[in-house]
Amino acid sequence: MRASDDAAGSPFAGAASNSGRRHAGDGFGLDDPDIRSACSSEALNPAGDQRLLLPSSHEISEIIGCLEIADGASEAESAKAQLRRAQEVLSLVIENVPDAIIVKDVHSRCYTMFNHAAETLIGKARADVIGKTAEALYPDGYLQIVEKEDEELLEKGELLIDDHEIFFHGMAPRIVTLNRKVLRDVYGEPQFMLAVIHDITERKRAEERIAYLARHDSMTGLPNRATFNERLAVAIARGARLAVLSIDLDRLKEINDMFGHAAGDRLIVEVANRLSAAAGEAFVARLAGDEFVVIAVDAGDRSSLASLANRLSDFAAAELMIEGAKCRPSLSIGVAVFPDDAQDATALLANADAALYRAKAEGRSVSRFFERGMDMRVRDRRALRHDLNFAIERDELSIHYQPNTKLSGEIIGFEALLRWRHPQRGWVSPADFIPAAEESHLIVEIGEWVLRRVCQEAATWPRPLCVAVNLSPVQFQYGDLVQLVHTILLETGLPPNRLGLEITEGVLIQDSARALTVLRRLKALGVRIVMDDFGKGYSSLSYLQLFPFDKIKIDRDFVHNVCQNSQSAAIVRAVMGLAQAIGLPVLAEGVETEEERDFLRTVGCDEMQGYLIGRPCPIEHYAAELGRLSSAGAAVAS
Ligand code: C2E
Ligand code: MG
Ligand code: MG
Repeated sequence: MRASDDAAGSPFAGAASNSGRRHAGDGFGLDDPDIRSACSSEALNPAGDQRLLLPSSHEISEIIGCLEIADGASEAESAKAQLRRAQEVLSLVIENVPDAIIVKDVHSRCYTMFNHAAETLIGKARADVIGKTAEALYPDGYLQIVEKEDEELLEKGELLIDDHEIFFHGMAPRIVTLNRKVLRDVYGEPQFMLAVIHDITERKRAEERIAYLARHDSMTGLPNRATFNERLAVAIARGARLAVLSIDLDRLKEINDMFGHAAGDRLIVEVANRLSAAAGEAFVARLAGDEFVVIAVDAGDRSSLASLANRLSDFAAAELMIEGAKCRPSLSIGVAVFPDDAQDATALLANADAALYRAKAEGRSVSRFFERGMDMRVRDRRALRHDLNFAIERDELSIHYQPNTKLSGEIIGFEALLRWRHPQRGWVSPADFIPAAEESHLIVEIGEWVLRRVCQEAATWPRPLCVAVNLSPVQFQYGDLVQLVHTILLETGLPPNRLGLEITEGVLIQDSARALTVLRRLKALGVRIVMDDFGKGYSSLSYLQLFPFDKIKIDRDFVHNVCQNSQSAAIVRAVMGLAQAIGLPVLAEGVETEEERDFLRTVGCDEMQGYLIGRPCPIEHYAAELGRLSSAGAAVAS
């Protein structure tokens, strides 16, 4: 049988007929030195180096054709069998390669090879393509591009085109990496044009989606805090007068309490749409829960800003129905102007917040401009920072532990979470005191205290469970973190593989070269490095490429919304897809309900943390899980 008889089921076709150099009827036998040399490795690889060269399909067909003439000789039979086997293997490999492989003849420009992946990508059977030219695959407008590429390929010998948008007949455009090469015969003459097409459409879409979602609030589609910060920095750098309007949606909590969170979410989305409509040219973002912000560039005088604030309030206040009840949303607004009220972005936003604070204190539903003396919150933060100085020595800090589990609930470790009980204020949220500690760099000392305490504690656990400690970006900038971790591990005897260090994007944003060096050295100690709050900031994807994290934790805002919000579900799915592709374990934070757990199961996430399984508590609360209780439930002395 000639190789070409098998064309329909093989990626090869028309190969024998494309080879014009020798023919079966020419009367060559196996003893013919020309045939021997054609089969020799030197002929197949004239460069004589160690590269593996498979005979091309037309070479094989040609040689088999010649060998058939020498029928009868046993040497010829075995050589034929070997060549057929080589062709079968080659065929099998090409059929199973996940990338599309397409070959066309240089002279006729007709396709001669079209593998299974090409059929799938292009949606055409090879029988409809082999022997045809590019018109069979590409629509009119795109054909000229293909022809130009062919010319360029012939000129250069090879082409690599990344992120290439490609159009096939009757198919949505695909994004591919296109690798093309001219295949030459042993005399160096171009014979075929090879195209290997790697389809990256789905990956690109997932990346674009994640990039979009990372810069936008998933519930309302408005720009998020990261985008707002960026926009404000750019506007301030231009130096033009501008205003920031800090906006709170009044009484959202009451709506949530009365009608449930789904109703509260609908209200937020509606108000977001109204704000966008009322703001006109101004930039609107959602920072968190009920907090929105507007940047009015080239802001006019106070009266034009007051009318912008009124317009926002009026639009928001149109009546709407929530769970059958009439509702008129109202806004509290604080306004601060650059450069009159503040000289930089942070102070401008803080002052708009101070004005908002005043508006709310005055009974809500009003707008207030910033005035000196309003920066109460700023001063409050200063007081907090001052008090924090004494927190360690006054023994006001403690650590709570929250379980990390498999989806089944089986505990695999704990996250250590810092707590501060202020003598007058009571429990202060880490969301308030950690930033204050970072501003004063006190977090370096506090972080050391936490790390030592946690490692001492975990080293006493009867079960060798893991423990995770959060690190602040400031700890990477000041002090010798690697030395500290090393010393504490030695001091406490905790095996390094039981310690996880959680970092957020902030670590990599500030001085990524230095941070990466520190991370690599930490990893070399044997501790695990975990990316925390994944998806919350922006450009998270690029950070995953920068460093081989041991795990990522999907931010609780996404997890919390998966059952109500299709965008959050989409981002969790996309993150899972990417993580699975690079073999990175994923833990979902903030799991509060069985529905959320079910969702995570369906997307293949296998670790979680959240109130559903256990809240952050003093370690004594988890004594049984640590193996400190006997089977009868009595505490074992530790
Ligand atoms: P994180 O590292 O992402 O910690 C998880 C946060 O989610 C904790 O908030 C935890 O109480 C909360 N959480 C866990 N499960 C659920 C749930 O099911 N629902 C909801 N709504 N929340 C849940 P927490 O303790 O307030 O800590 C906030 C952040 O403060 C932490 O976020 C971490 O970034 C930071 N932090 C806490 N302790 C330390 C520390 O020792 N050092 C540093 N640098 N940062 C810390
Ligand atoms: Mg954490
Ligand atoms: Mg987190």
